[in-house]
Amino acid sequence: MTEKPVPVPNADTQPFWDACNEERLIVQTCKACGHVQFYPRALCVKCDGRDLDWRDAKPSGKVHTFSIVHRAPTPAFRADSPYVLALIDLDDGFRMMMNVVNCPPENVSIDMAVRIVFEERNGQRLPQAEPASD
Ligand SMILES: [Zn+2]
Repeated sequence: MTEKPVPVPNADTQPFWDACNEERLIVQTCKACGHVQFYPRALCVKCDGRDLDWRDAKPSGKVHTFSIVHRAPTPAFRADSPYVLALIDLDDGFRMMMNVVNCPPENVSIDMAVRIVFEERNGQRLPQAEPASD
């Protein structure tokens, strides 16, 4: 059985992945202009500022758009097919791509409320979305 890819942190992304391993979602923010950005970078994409910080992000959001994947790109994903790949708009104003899990694909819809859960892959946790229950 082949394994799913595991993120490889670099200097810009290490804090993000470390927080994931503590099951916390954090986001990079610019101290100069307040811009919130994902993915993490060395510079603020709005003002080119280098004084970037991290803060906890609300682990909730909505489905912006999604696709149902029927044909796995690699054998590691075959058992999951069909599965949902989605763009999630987090409540703190940034967008991430992730899977929507713990839900039949046909139940996923645009604007559906989700919360973040963490999937472990070979020692690294990564954020995924599941339907928010109330
Ligand atoms: Zn900025």
